Amino acid sequence: MKILVLNCGSSSVKYQIFDMQDERVLAKGLVERIGIPGSVLTHRPAGGDKLVREEEIADHKEAIRLCLEALTDPHYGVIKDYSEIGAVGHRIVHGGTFPHSVLVDASTKEAIGELEALAPLHNGAALRGIEACEAILPHTPQVTAFDTAFHQGMPDYAYTYSLPYELCQKHLIRRYGAHGTSHQYVALRAAALVGRPLEELKVITCHLGNGSSITAIKNARSYDTSMGFTPLAGLTMGSRCGDIDPAIVPFLMDKEGYTPAEMDQLMNRHSGVLGVSGVSSDFRDIEAAMAEGNDRARLAWDIFVHTAKKYIGAYVAILNGVDVLVFTAGLGENSVAAREAICQDMDYLGIGIDREKNQVRGREQEITSPGARVRTFVIPTNEELMIARDTLAIVQAQAR
Ligand code: AMP
Repeated sequence: MKILVLNCGSSSVKYQIFDMQDERVLAKGLVERIGIPGSVLTHRPAGGDKLVREEEIADHKEAIRLCLEALTDPHYGVIKDYSEIGAVGHRIVHGGTFPHSVLVDASTKEAIGELEALAPLHNGAALRGIEACEAILPHTPQVTAFDTAFHQGMPDYAYTYSLPYELCQKHLIRRYGAHGTSHQYVALRAAALVGRPLEELKVITCHLGNGSSITAIKNARSYDTSMGFTPLAGLTMGSRCGDIDPAIVPFLMDKEGYTPAEMDQLMNRHSGVLGVSGVSSDFRDIEAAMAEGNDRARLAWDIFVHTAKKYIGAYVAILNGVDVLVFTAGLGENSVAAREAICQDMDYLGIGIDREKNQVRGREQEITSPGARVRTFVIPTNEELMIARDTLAIVQAQAR
């Protein structure tokens, strides 16, 4: 079966089409600047020429229609007609308390719509993507995979905030986490590389990118994770502040006269390594500035490394040990320096990485040093494949 995976953002649609016979990517692409002047579709068939179409794209329905046109194009396409698409899998950023992927029906759409308040930019766009597919591919089943679902395994003491209980219930305030599909994918892959079932392993997965989160995994489920009610919590990130003393928020609003929206903007867009360094939110720029002796870039880097170490240490404590440590996402897969700094002086915990093996960028490799107890891996994440697998399993179960 061929499965189309869609990731709808507020002004973009990313897509990949898989042949699930061998999980091969047939083509992938991206529509950018939807509803903004300068819209463009970039389509890349596996092993073929790239197609770039620049034209006005008013909304997500038009964007998805263009993706499908590219997929069926006589020269750049990889399928003959739409009927070859057996199912569509959608990435949903906020799935509330959905514990796994589900087939789309009226109640799923209603639930995603209700969660829009918790992820206003993303869930609304995903809903528009689902409705566009219903209109263009009315006979094709659709599945939603939620970034939060994997973390629904957390015990109540890991997801409940110590605020007035009734207030949290009323406003659905709890730890939801994020990057769940990525954490689950790399944990499953690590278990396969170790040659043991994930259920038997204690795993810590570090998804380090522009947004970063670390997850403790036990019994093949998330046991705790660093992101919280929103993806602002946890580690210091590109431009997000991560964990801060909550008293700073009303203090700054009072002193600077910020509105809630301005405070939110400050913590999401002007903080993190960007806010501390004044250089960039991109870790490559931070590494370059550090090499030139920029002290605030060095400070931003050290804060990031320090918080990552603290989460790993905390998760070793709550898991009562760790068998496998995984690095993934832009920084985790590519930054030799970040992995080296985070894993330095962790020998007490049995963590140690090999300098030579750690030179890897963007590909799967074990980097454990000889004698270290904890197996450490670099594993490129593949959220789309995970979504395609879930979609296939749900559609096949439905057909039985
Ligand atoms: P992501 O959000 O997963 O796309 O990751 C983006 C982040 O990964 C950015 O901060 C990049 O600077 C970082 N990144 C990507 N490639 C490298 C690299 N070769 N070295 C250091 N950081 C990198």
